[in-house]
Amino acid sequence: MPYASLYQKYRPQTFSEIIGQPHVARTLANSVERGHIFHAYLFSGPRGTGKTSTARILAKAVNCDKGPTSDPCGICQQCKEIAAGTFPDVFEIDAATHSKVEETRDFLSNVPTGLSALSRKKFYIIDEVHMLSSHAFNALLKTLEEPPDHVVFVLATTEPHKVPPTIAGRCQHFEFRLIPPSELAAHYKKICEKEGIEFEPEAVERVATLARGSARDGLSLMDQLVAASGGRLTLESVTSVIGDDEIDISAELAQAIATGDLERCLELSTKISESGKDFRAFTRRFASYLRNLMIASYLPASKTRSIAGVDAETATRLSDTAKLLGRPTILRCIDIVGEVLASMAAGSPPQLELELGLVRMCRPEESPTPGELAKQIQDLAAKLARIEQRATLQSQRGVSSERLSEAPAFSSRASHTEGDHGSKPEKSDRDRESAPAKKEDPGPAPIDESDLERLWNRFLDMLKAAKKMKARAILLEATAVRIRESRLEIDFPQRLEFHAKNAESLASALEEQMVSVFGRPLKIVSRLVPESPPASRQDRIAGEKENEDSRLAQESAPASVSLSSESSENEGEGMPDERKAHELAERLIMNELGGTPIPE
Ligand SMILES: [Zn+2]
Repeated sequence: MPYASLYQKYRPQTFSEIIGQPHVARTLANSVERGHIFHAYLFSGPRGTGKTSTARILAKAVNCDKGPTSDPCGICQQCKEIAAGTFPDVFEIDAATHSKVEETRDFLSNVPTGLSALSRKKFYIIDEVHMLSSHAFNALLKTLEEPPDHVVFVLATTEPHKVPPTIAGRCQHFEFRLIPPSELAAHYKKICEKEGIEFEPEAVERVATLARGSARDGLSLMDQLVAASGGRLTLESVTSVIGDDEIDISAELAQAIATGDLERCLELSTKISESGKDFRAFTRRFASYLRNLMIASYLPASKTRSIAGVDAETATRLSDTAKLLGRPTILRCIDIVGEVLASMAAGSPPQLELELGLVRMCRPEESPTPGELAKQIQDLAAKLARIEQRATLQSQRGVSSERLSEAPAFSSRASHTEGDHGSKPEKSDRDRESAPAKKEDPGPAPIDESDLERLWNRFLDMLKAAKKMKARAILLEATAVRIRESRLEIDFPQRLEFHAKNAESLASALEEQMVSVFGRPLKIVSRLVPESPPASRQDRIAGEKENEDSRLAQESAPASVSLSSESSENEGEGMPDERKAHELAERLIMNELGGTPIPE
């Protein structure tokens, strides 16, 4: 009698035997029970999770002597033949090996033929459907647009995003999930009992972990182990056959990556090659090892044990290695290993791909990904902002006493308050004396107002980079006027009252960008100003100086006040031309819109 692999022997035969996909099994069983059979199904999910087995069960449920039934008998001719893959009205095609245009097209264009006497529906199960050529997809689409009554398509794929939406849209979509190690372990233990295989529970659990969510992979491994160990499944036999060395190699790789030891990584790659292991299979296992490290980096060992499906000792080791690598590196390695697997799947030489990946893991600075570059840029921008801030602080300290003496006199009430920001501009020796005291103030450095426009523009640029487009659109309408203590004062033209209100609520969401540009989070205070030609801005600022007095009574920032008066002086230059241009533009706009120019 020919040897049937455990996978063939224990393929689920009814909906209730499907492991790890209760949502799929239940929904399908119910719909068959109610007689709702669709023309097309899309089963997506990782390999070995039961997609084609489920398709066969569906075909049996529909065609069984007792059917349509959610519980096919398994003994009638249809059930038996479908299970054996010999039933004439259930076609299984693997698109990965059957993607030749002509063949597939012929196949699909012959779809609407008659039924055998025994069957209710003809089933076409197309595995790896995403591999079909575009011609074949077109032929399939045509059939799906006007499906013959007696035909059911079950399209299975590991990559649903590659299935054209026109096709996917005509299917009932079911997503298959990776099967949790605990469910696999329970399943495998039952199989061992039925097969009379002696086993150590830890050994079966290890197999379930190594199966990485695929019932098929785990059972193939069990076949191999049982054959090699004379029918006894022990942890030792697992270790000797698949090698704890695979697990060890993964752990060693992780340690080498943590220390940037590229030489060791490449030695390990050679070891994999010399032992004749499949690089793809190894890389998949390494990916699952990295996943376990990620879990261990976020959760305590007890949780890691249950979620990663590992024993206590392994959980502790994982947690140690995770600490060594650190979360950012673990996450980066997972990204890279994902790309490596994708390149392997696309046909690149596996060993080369793995080694390139290891180089990137060990030497992030040499081949940064866009994400890594973005991080570096962000770090640099923050560093730059800090340096500039320090420089500004120093230059202000250098000139502050001079400025203070030149600054216009304000109400001196503030200078007597016990504010930690001390002095306020006043032509007095007392203020000059108070300046050095301010140097010892550990509070945030003041920001030079002449620098404000540049900083504001940089801030807007950073919002763009951070894709905060809505906030940026609002703030683009504003002019930054000054920074006082922790307030960023911005002006909006009167007509944008709504923007002005919104702007104030934005600050907390923009904190990261604020800190990197201004060196600290700031509260946005927006004000409405009349839409006046620029010439009047001088007046505005001058006018503000008067209004300022009362506010200064509570809070003062000498440097910025003196600067604001300076900047208004600077802006006075060349004003007539600017003013003319503005007036002209305004008239033009008003004429276009049929309104009247705003009187000055
Ligand atoms: Zn039957």
